[in-house]
Amino acid sequence: MWLSVGVFVAMPILAFTASVVSIKDIVDRERPEFETTLKETDFSAKSTLEPADLVRLGIEVKQDPTMGNKMEGDIATSVDEKPLSDAVRRSTRNAIRQTYRRWPNGEIPYTLSSQYGSYARSVIAKAIKEYHDKTCVRFVPRDPNRHADYVYIHPDDGCYSLVGRTGGRQPLSLDSGCIQVGTIVHELMHAVGFFHEQSRSDRDEYLDIVWSNVMKGADDQFEKYTNSVIDHLGEPYDFSSIMHYGPYAFSGNGKKTLQPKKGNAERMGQRVAFSEIDLRKINRLYQCPIRQIQVNGNSVIENQCRDENWRCPFWMLYDFCSDFEEIRFIVCRQSCGQCTTTFRPSKATKPQKKMFPLRRSIIGIHFDV
Ligand SMILES: [Zn+2]
Repeated sequence: MWLSVGVFVAMPILAFTASVVSIKDIVDRERPEFETTLKETDFSAKSTLEPADLVRLGIEVKQDPTMGNKMEGDIATSVDEKPLSDAVRRSTRNAIRQTYRRWPNGEIPYTLSSQYGSYARSVIAKAIKEYHDKTCVRFVPRDPNRHADYVYIHPDDGCYSLVGRTGGRQPLSLDSGCIQVGTIVHELMHAVGFFHEQSRSDRDEYLDIVWSNVMKGADDQFEKYTNSVIDHLGEPYDFSSIMHYGPYAFSGNGKKTLQPKKGNAERMGQRVAFSEIDLRKINRLYQCPIRQIQVNGNSVIENQCRDENWRCPFWMLYDFCSDFEEIRFIVCRQSCGQCTTTFRPSKATKPQKKMFPLRRSIIGIHFDV
């Protein structure tokens, strides 16, 4: 009996950890450089269920690749990266308050460098699919006849992006050390129009910046902006946002630079998946339509939270939800209990008890407009 269970469980473990990726499957700088777009085969590739060990391939991967050397780590200030005056720098930060910095109809044209290999293309596709599955933002292949403004994803130097639509061909860099789904989701969210979460005007209520531990010259990585610059979109401070710095961001001495004061900061700095608040904010910024269905006479938000692998119920039983963040927050959200429900009780019908078994299969994208 025990032997058969062991064999049964071992198969999914092997399937998750096996890796046959070579360094040229990530970035090959000897390839001629030109602009491409993702193909259906990139989206259907299974390689993201077998994450490559980038370090084993000799690639330098930072603890948090989004901690670069641009303004606020990974936010570029202009297309050509020339030093900017304070006034101009400030104007580049007004992304999400300025409607012209949003992408019309939530459609973000993109191209991709030909230097990415098949593995990198499939991981970038997986990150883009996260947006397509959970928001109404769409990354669409650039059509030169229609799209003057577009995002050019290429392996420049580290991971960085501009915030929102800046005009013309705007760079978004993902070098070899950035080819992880969560890191890419983070950079794409800058391009969608979001700053870092701890830049909010109310952040001092939630955390202390331990300035004595901050790396020399890195003070400006922790700027905060007023409400006139950043729109909170009616959402509370979110330590779990994929856009929040981790506790050791820009530390000069290995000690914490961010000290939470209140609230649940257990996942602060996670680079795994959108938080639910991240999703609500994106969907609100782009006025995504609410899709509702009726369940037992109650109006509920359509289910978009599901398992992506048939093995999820078994992985859940063997504690993989706790051991692997990717399983918990991306691959097996349903089995790992990450789906929540937003119910809008119908006037005609009282909520009934039997609706609760549905809790684990319905995500709460909910707008109070
Ligand atoms: Zn960032």
